[in-house]
Amino acid sequence: MSHSVQAKAQFNFNKLQKRLRRQTGQAVMDFNMIEEGDRIMVCLSGGKDSYTLLEMLKHLQRVAPIKFELFVVNLDQKQPGFPEHVLPEYLDRQDVEYKIVEEDTYSIVTDIIPEGKTTCSLCSRLRRGILYRTAKELGATKIALGHHRDDMIETLFLNMFYGGKLKSMPAKLMSDNGEHMVIRPLAYCKEADIEQYAIHQAYPIIPCNLCGSQENLQRKHTKAMLAKWNEEHPGRIESIFTAMQNVVPSHLADNELFDFKHLKTGEVVDGGDIALDKPDIPKQPATAPEQESAEVVTINLS
Ligand code: SF4
Repeated sequence: MSHSVQAKAQFNFNKLQKRLRRQTGQAVMDFNMIEEGDRIMVCLSGGKDSYTLLEMLKHLQRVAPIKFELFVVNLDQKQPGFPEHVLPEYLDRQDVEYKIVEEDTYSIVTDIIPEGKTTCSLCSRLRRGILYRTAKELGATKIALGHHRDDMIETLFLNMFYGGKLKSMPAKLMSDNGEHMVIRPLAYCKEADIEQYAIHQAYPIIPCNLCGSQENLQRKHTKAMLAKWNEEHPGRIESIFTAMQNVVPSHLADNELFDFKHLKTGEVVDGGDIALDKPDIPKQPATAPEQESAEVVTINLS
């Protein structure tokens, strides 16, 4: 590679890294994901997203004006061919506390679920239970997962298409029993950026199909639909994600969310009066504002 090509590649990588760091910092700040004294359990599966998550949080830990701890947990589910040595070898080089939890959920799932049926729902329920238990045992105050913006958008459409609900995957979530706060610091990061970053960093990726389960077909179709839209209408994905942050309950149809029944003459409803107008749809997609220059992120103390 010539010197100028090398320099250009390095420049592009620096820009990419800067963008991922900024977006992570922004999401952490917008959702108040991390607070002084937090002890955060980072779930590392060995996929591109979780490696990137760990890297972003380590950077944040170095530059943030607050102190928080990180430790890594990987769940070895005893899937056939799981390369047990890969993560310990990687983590030993990272100067981070970690624990590999070994639980044979693979046998439980294959014993219970008849062959050919989808195993993901039981498998992920078991995994969630083990991770929550581990978080408690190790004194975690938050659990960080590597889901990104595109996971959130796909989930939004999956819930609409198959669940009849307008809901996605939250950037911050309290577990049903109120014990565990789950955070998704990569909520603003694009999957394509994470993919590029992971390639550049040459992470030792562990394949995600070791369990032999087929990738969820509905998610695959939704992903393909979104990719096609993005190709045909650049900016559409950004616009969808911006829309997820600009919800107008008075202009949907959920009586629980907005009290249509008790709406009285004289009340002002913030959301735009378009009752007698044609909806004013902008010609260009609405995209979230980009702030390329801010490298160092700050976190609000609250
Ligand atoms: S793909 Fe395999 S490991 Fe992942 S949730 Fe489904 S059954 Fe479990």
